[in-house]
Amino acid sequence: MNKIEHIGIAVKSLNESNQLFSKLFGKTHYKIEEVESEGVKTSFFKIGENKIELLQAIKSDSPIAKFIDKKGEGIHHIAFDVDDIEAEIMRLKNDGFIVLNETPKQGADNKLVAFLHPKSSNGVLIELCQEIKK
Ligand code: ZN
Repeated sequence: MNKIEHIGIAVKSLNESNQLFSKLFGKTHYKIEEVESEGVKTSFFKIGENKIELLQAIKSDSPIAKFIDKKGEGIHHIAFDVDDIEAEIMRLKNDGFIVLNETPKQGADNKLVAFLHPKSSNGVLIELCQEIKK
């Protein structure tokens, strides 16, 4: 794994939270993107070298809706940048981590992504992401 790629925060209203975090960071988001397959709408902020992703559910059965029902708004996942996502999935699986999707899928922000189940990583949902090279 390379660096933390971004931190994901689950929010109820992307509109309201975009305003709140714009105030907090002193700058506005640089992109809004829907990921239909995950049932989420996301926005991204860049703070120096770091990124924050806000996620709002657009369907009631979206993982973000379920997370907010259970735990309320807050930090949802930490995403790590990897060079070769398939190799990392194999490595982590062989090391006993529970990979939620063994086939990487298209995520937001031009990334291939895979998630590790929080129960295999001390309650932290881990996202692996590899930039899609064009
Ligand atoms: Zn993410």
